[in-house]
Amino acid sequence: MNQNQHSNSNDNDPSDEPTAASLNFIEQIVAGDNESGKHEGRVHTRFPPEPNGYLHIGHAKSICLNFGIATANGGKTNLRFDDTNPAKEETEYVDSIMEDVRWLGFQWDNVYFASDYFQQLYDFAEQLIKSGHAYVCSLDAEKTRSYRGGWNEAGKDSPYRSRDPEENLDLFRRMKAGEFTEGEHTLRAKIDMASPNMNMRDPTIYRIRKIKHHRTGSDWCIYPMYDYAHGISDSIERITHSICTLEFEHHRPLYNWFLETLDIFPSRQIEFARLNITHTMMSKRKLLELVQDNQVSGWDDPRMPTICGLRRRGYTPESIRNFCTRIGVTKQNSRHDMAWLEDALRADLNKRANRRAGVLRPLKVVIENYPEDQVEQLDAINNPEDESAGKRKVPFGRELYIERTDFMEDPPKKFFRLGPGREVRLRYGYFITCTDVIKNDAGEVVELRCSYDPETLGGQAPDGRRVRGTIHWVAAATAITAEVRLYDHLFQTTDPFEASPATDTLAEASYLNNLNENSLEVLTNCKLEPSLKDAAVGELYQFERLGYFCVDNKDSSPGNLVFNRSVTLRDTWAKMQRKK
Ligand code: ATP
Ligand code: MG
Repeated sequence: MNQNQHSNSNDNDPSDEPTAASLNFIEQIVAGDNESGKHEGRVHTRFPPEPNGYLHIGHAKSICLNFGIATANGGKTNLRFDDTNPAKEETEYVDSIMEDVRWLGFQWDNVYFASDYFQQLYDFAEQLIKSGHAYVCSLDAEKTRSYRGGWNEAGKDSPYRSRDPEENLDLFRRMKAGEFTEGEHTLRAKIDMASPNMNMRDPTIYRIRKIKHHRTGSDWCIYPMYDYAHGISDSIERITHSICTLEFEHHRPLYNWFLETLDIFPSRQIEFARLNITHTMMSKRKLLELVQDNQVSGWDDPRMPTICGLRRRGYTPESIRNFCTRIGVTKQNSRHDMAWLEDALRADLNKRANRRAGVLRPLKVVIENYPEDQVEQLDAINNPEDESAGKRKVPFGRELYIERTDFMEDPPKKFFRLGPGREVRLRYGYFITCTDVIKNDAGEVVELRCSYDPETLGGQAPDGRRVRGTIHWVAAATAITAEVRLYDHLFQTTDPFEASPATDTLAEASYLNNLNENSLEVLTNCKLEPSLKDAAVGELYQFERLGYFCVDNKDSSPGNLVFNRSVTLRDTWAKMQRKK
């Protein structure tokens, strides 16, 4: 995807009616089914998270797709918690998932839990046993694996495969009753041990797990496997299009086998490529490791690709939805540049965020010819992109803060900001000229002395003399001091799992070596204009010339404001990388 395509797609109006040609391949399948009258034109999708972690931006893609397709076709979407694995699931995750889906702007028609179907799933298993399609196998885990064969080698039938249905039924009921220990028996589908598709080699459908489940407690000590529970749950809910990611493509024959063998509603599985983004990763399990390892402050650390992390960072639901629309849906695995996500946020915030002045690394400026006690209230436009946002007053006085990086003692020719003897325009204010530089004993610049030209208010000099640079500033007397947190990519490599230069091995945990040590910078002495005093949690601003910032939703309080930088104005990372 080239840069042009990217920026052009920024202009797409999401409200444009889709044309047949613009339908993605899943939408085309759905349109085809509608046309042929399959399911009487009914469209019912589901979003089926496993409650074993917080949702990430990859899930957002799946959510947008499932809810989007249903909405576009007057259909419905279920939220279904795929909670068949009692070991890793928690109610905390269930709550956060519901919150995140709602926050993204979607409302499910029904909420279900796969664990609600434990009895039905059990009954279907008995049905498979009775019809000779499932058997209780007593091979241990290792034997089961070795009997399975390999990619080039057919598997071997389990010696228990020929147990008759009556014996199977008796054993299965006793498994359920808790008479056996974990691993002693499993229930397996009787399909084909020589199938080229490993998933079809008599897959396990029930295992004994003597563990409490987050909803069913200790009602059950046998639990269904994912492949078995998932397809049947879809069918029970009469899901028409069961959309999942590509790694389940080879599970589709099994998905179909269960529904056909049981002769129940024929939900259809359709696979698409997972979302991957540079400099981050999309795996709840791995993200949990970062949390447990204290590499981040929690699931909602603003560097995390989780929905709650993005929310805390200042992402809006609109920007995430627009991003998901722009990247499209395909069957090719790829990795999208993080710049796309950031661009989607910039595009949204440019329209909605009010402009403010904030100085992150302050340098004091004293305007020596400005009256000591004078304070002027200067007019400032809130948002040039939105006239209805109006104007505000910004106080100006004799002492100001400017950004340290806007001054150089020995500036090169192209540096159009402040330097000894140089003149610069203050945003909304006057022209000032640097007349003296004050240093401390260590030789560091601690203060600038300047003069101002009273004739230049509003940015023009009556004599027509020109200045090249305009810098932002905050009046010292009324400035608020705040903490600002600057974030960078969580991983320095585009692929977090890339062999790292430190170890040069591609170990499972190699991603820890690829963490970006400079992904968080905390600035505690930032100076902000006084109108930000009552900035409330979640509010978003553009600090002029710096980027977009939001009030942190956890650590900020009145009088102790904490801002997160959501995104810079331009993609400085790409620029830096090019320079390297
Ligand atoms: P993880 O490895 O992060 O746990 P998962 O696929 O196991 O991901 P589930 O909770 O099972 O997570 O996923 C719920 C739904 O979200 C599934 O339909 C899954 O296909 C989809 N999904 C998960 N990750 C992505 C992704 N990166 N891109 C698109 N869809 C995804
Ligand atoms: Mg999973």
